[in-house]
Amino acid sequence: TMRSHHRVLVFLVLAMCIVGGWCVPLKKTVSVTFPGDVLKNMTDMELADSYLKRFGYMNVQHRSGFQSMVSTSKALMRMQRQMGLEETGTLDKSTVAAMKAPRCGVPDVRSYQTFDGDLKWDHHDVTYRILNYSPDMEASLIDDAFARAFKVWSDVTPLTFTRLFDGTADIMVSFGRADHGDGYPFDGKDGLLAHAFPPGEGIQGDAHFDDDENWTLGKGAAVKTSFGNAEGALCYFPFSFEGKQYSTCTTEGRSDNLPWCATTADYGRDKKFGFCPSELLYTFDGNSNGKECVFPFVFQGETYEGCTTEGRSDGYRWCSTTDNFDKDKKYGFCPNRDTAVIGGNSEGEPCQFPFVFLGKKYDSCTSEGRGDGRLWCATTSDFDADTKWGFCPDRGYSLFLVAAHEFGHALGLDHSNIRDALMYPMYSYVEDFSLHGDDVEGIQYLYDGNGTTMTIVKCCSFHSLPSFPLSSHPGSKTGPDPTPPGPPIPTPGPSDEPEPNTPTTTTTSPTTTHPVDPSQDPCQINKFDTITEIDGDLHFFKDGQYWRLSSKTDGGLKGPFSMSERWPALPAVVDTAFEDLVTKKIYFFSGTRFWVYTGQSLLGPRSIDKLGLPSTVEKVEGALQRGKGKVLLFSGENYWRLDVKGQNIDKGYPRFTDIVFGGVPNDAHDVFHFKGHIYFCRDRFYWRMNSRRQVDRVGYVKYDILKCTDSSNYRY
Ligand SMILES: [Zn+2]
Ligand SMILES: [Zn+2]
Repeated sequence: TMRSHHRVLVFLVLAMCIVGGWCVPLKKTVSVTFPGDVLKNMTDMELADSYLKRFGYMNVQHRSGFQSMVSTSKALMRMQRQMGLEETGTLDKSTVAAMKAPRCGVPDVRSYQTFDGDLKWDHHDVTYRILNYSPDMEASLIDDAFARAFKVWSDVTPLTFTRLFDGTADIMVSFGRADHGDGYPFDGKDGLLAHAFPPGEGIQGDAHFDDDENWTLGKGAAVKTSFGNAEGALCYFPFSFEGKQYSTCTTEGRSDNLPWCATTADYGRDKKFGFCPSELLYTFDGNSNGKECVFPFVFQGETYEGCTTEGRSDGYRWCSTTDNFDKDKKYGFCPNRDTAVIGGNSEGEPCQFPFVFLGKKYDSCTSEGRGDGRLWCATTSDFDADTKWGFCPDRGYSLFLVAAHEFGHALGLDHSNIRDALMYPMYSYVEDFSLHGDDVEGIQYLYDGNGTTMTIVKCCSFHSLPSFPLSSHPGSKTGPDPTPPGPPIPTPGPSDEPEPNTPTTTTTSPTTTHPVDPSQDPCQINKFDTITEIDGDLHFFKDGQYWRLSSKTDGGLKGPFSMSERWPALPAVVDTAFEDLVTKKIYFFSGTRFWVYTGQSLLGPRSIDKLGLPSTVEKVEGALQRGKGKVLLFSGENYWRLDVKGQNIDKGYPRFTDIVFGGVPNDAHDVFHFKGHIYFCRDRFYWRMNSRRQVDRVGYVKYDILKCTDSSNYRY
């Protein structure tokens, strides 16, 4: 049958002599390839390659027409910045360690795979449903962990979370192993812990937890008792009973073989106890309403004396709750005992002590035979004969912490590069959890109750996208080629006459028959110095002049106006500008200097390094107000978050623009906010992003925003 797969391979590293005459008796180490061991012996380079691809740092050319494949070194630097590591661009020790650490399965770099999904819920009364349970913890502990994880987010937003017991909920929560049906398989114990999809229909918004992990409350098995006299309290480990200390549940002192524990440190003094999870007491899920297993039972003509995974492909242990499954079809899943192994090839079975391994007897977990030092045990008394094993119970992962992180994704949040933030992609246990300011700001940006960012844009004019698919120009440096509105309407008569305010002396170009001074006509301008919203009106700056586009529907475009009249201190060319929403101060940037106008009074120019921008920044190319008192400043492929009040850059910056704003060009020369959308400009074109950070339109600045009708018959 499967014998050949169960053969144990033994490698002996023999004692070696060191040059110099000394002969050191090295400890004899034994390395065993365990049957069913999911650990692959990848080299660090192979590990890095698969990590960078899996989490979105490499092969990202499909994400934007402007980005070709990034080199490994660049991908490493992006990953190092995202993880808060030193940006060496090489596969150093701390980078390898970070790649091996347990983490969330959601890619760090957003890709177009999420393009179809909504990135925030359009309602505040979000529903969730728990589809199944892990055998690691009693169901009520799992319910409670999930409820607390949702509360983390409802505490700081107007969102409410209601649990459904059937039907389709917004957020469907489930446990699964390896390939669990969505094309994003888990990987056995450790490594990937869980993943979740951003808000939307179907699988979007759902959260999946890898059940090859040991789910606990973060500090080892959380064993809830039943029956007994402690009203369902958790076991207290270690506890003493008749002069002996116990760190696991025990059957000592009982004749019925039921595992029990004390719920205080000293059973003799307090006499408080309860029974530990056991298939002899109850089952979960299934169709037997929690009834206990009946042993032996018959399944497909065979007799079973214990829980089995036979007949299932997902590895979950089950039993019949009558003596004949074939006849009654009644079953339930077996809860894991607190001594149950994790992973290996007999997940959920308790360790069997003593067991025999390579002829030697073991009374406790051992790391013998493994190169990675992890503790394991056999689940039958003879490993050499049966090769059944698993890892010994450890502290496990806090279901509450991992769920709170995943639910953040399910609400639309991305990974943070701030190590102490909940949305940092790697797991670490904290005893007294509280949400980091970065998490709060992120979720409040999406679901702010004060109305400004709450306006849900019922869009999306996706019909405007297929005419120039973003992926059609891989690696190309030319912009998309949308068809300008047309055909141009011939406007005989008046339009051929000079505008009243146009000096006729400037109509000297022999190549044009249009007597319009290009410097007076914004429709003749291909690329503005900067565009920004001031006092609700969009302002277009170019060479000492500006135009104002009223936000009112009938307002229209006014200008040009002279910059030197309103803001006399400014140079003719400004790279970016923004109005602080709180103080109404207007910030202008040009090169490495900035000016701040409050009405007519001026501060500056000052150097941008006073704001905490590094000296490598030669100019600031875009600015986005982000909630109260925060502004994102863009330069090159990076952006920084400015705390306007504190006049400093927040921790955790710079970040890569395209990691957070997927699908926009990496070399935008202007970024601004207008009517609830974010615009990234490059050359004549803009990429418009909605409040869910989806690019919902790409088009021409002058036709779509300035409403130029192209009467000049020129196309740029
Ligand atoms: Zn995550
Ligand atoms: Zn999944």
